[in-house]
Amino acid sequence: MSDTTTVSLETEVPFDKLHEECGVFAIYGHPEAGNLSYLGLYALQHRGQESAGIASSDGKKIHSVRKMGHVADIFTPDVLNQLPGELAIGHTRYSTAGETTLANAQPLSVACSKGQVAVAHNGNLTNAIELRNDLERDGSIFQSTSDTEVILHLVARSHERTLPGALRDALLQIEGAFSLVFLAQNRVIVARDPHGFRPLAMGRLEMSDGKQATVFASETCAFDLLGATYIDDVLPGEMVIVGPEGVTREFYTRPGVTAHCAFEHVYFSRPDSVVFGKSVSESRERMGRLLAREHPVDADVVVPVPDSGVTAAIGYAAESGIPYRQALIRNHYVGRTFIEPSQEIRDFGVKLKLNPIRHLLEGKRVILVDDSIIRGTTSRKIVRMVRNAGAREVHLRISCPPTVSPCYYGVDTPSKEELIGARNTIDQIRDYVEADSLSYLPLEALQTAIRDDNQEFCYSCYTGKYPTLVQIGEVVLAKTGCC
Ligand code: AMP
Repeated sequence: MSDTTTVSLETEVPFDKLHEECGVFAIYGHPEAGNLSYLGLYALQHRGQESAGIASSDGKKIHSVRKMGHVADIFTPDVLNQLPGELAIGHTRYSTAGETTLANAQPLSVACSKGQVAVAHNGNLTNAIELRNDLERDGSIFQSTSDTEVILHLVARSHERTLPGALRDALLQIEGAFSLVFLAQNRVIVARDPHGFRPLAMGRLEMSDGKQATVFASETCAFDLLGATYIDDVLPGEMVIVGPEGVTREFYTRPGVTAHCAFEHVYFSRPDSVVFGKSVSESRERMGRLLAREHPVDADVVVPVPDSGVTAAIGYAAESGIPYRQALIRNHYVGRTFIEPSQEIRDFGVKLKLNPIRHLLEGKRVILVDDSIIRGTTSRKIVRMVRNAGAREVHLRISCPPTVSPCYYGVDTPSKEELIGARNTIDQIRDYVEADSLSYLPLEALQTAIRDDNQEFCYSCYTGKYPTLVQIGEVVLAKTGCC
């Protein structure tokens, strides 16, 4: 990858895959591979709630189920019975831009000269449009608007004779963020991009007969549910092949500058996961402690915005000595469909999800802790809610720096125009969210909190500096170094 002329990041983006968040899972060598994939996806549900799918292999044929909706609603016992075999992959997906159709649900599968292959992908390819245009010019017919389909076409067209060879071929042509799990008739193959943007953990599951299954997941919370042990991460630039011959680890390319996504630790991953080899809970608590040190305020209570602000608020309270109070209660059962009132009810959306406990807030000077401000609309409603419940002062503390630039590597961030941090000073944002004070965690403190001692994280949403070239339509954004 070479540097090119810098162009404005404000270009509007007709790119279907900018906003996609996903979880992936894979298992090899377990008689209940389909059922365990279901459990793995259940633990990864927070990574995507739009659609989910599992593909399994019985050694002869790949079976696949993909549906819109939540994991627990899709995979009933009858559906799981359609997924026989000892190896399987799974995917859970959420996308706010582009099409939300079943055609884009994963795993995607294809039958080609290398046999039947299914794939599930977490991340975004930054050169997908260019590759897709080339492939379409050469006669490939696409069935979805998903960048993941590009990978299958590259695999199918490869002149390599073996599937691992064709995968290597395809992986060398794609750029951007990808943690991929592939399923063939008798193999599971996984791979991670050379920068290691998105996580992919590898584990081992001991069975009662002494045999072992190999498992892979976006987050280790999936292993905990299965009783599997975390062994290692699939490394940036690495491909792991699991088949009858055992487990083979190899680098399909030289690893690039490591650029793990900092936002996984700030917000996206579950706090009970180990991500990039580090405990997310520890990172968040440290973010809260450092936030208290950097931006103290004389107040009566520390209140988290649940669930995203909880662990950082615990850290803030511990460091400041100010009591922690869960004064906002979250309804965990808010689904996609609810009956909206016909007449206007103010702040209906946020009230559906959160309700304040008045006696904990009344007359109090409140430090409200949340993980991030994206558009600012939610924060504004929550600050109002806390004030309406009687708080005397509301001081908003955010456990990461201002989000100033979109993510091109698989996190759902809106365009720069919609990011309140991109166009406003902190004072202006404070005015907008109607807080008495507003402070963010400085970048250096975030680096300390996630123990990024070797500069191995990507902070592009906070700096606007992207570690790879990013192609958006006809526009190529320069690689501007990793923060
Ligand atoms: P807002 O500022 O109104 O856009 O909402 C920000 C809140 O949304 C944050 O406090 C997060 O808890 C949550 N959030 C941040 N990033 C994301 C994301 N990529 N997907 C879903 N929710 C997010």
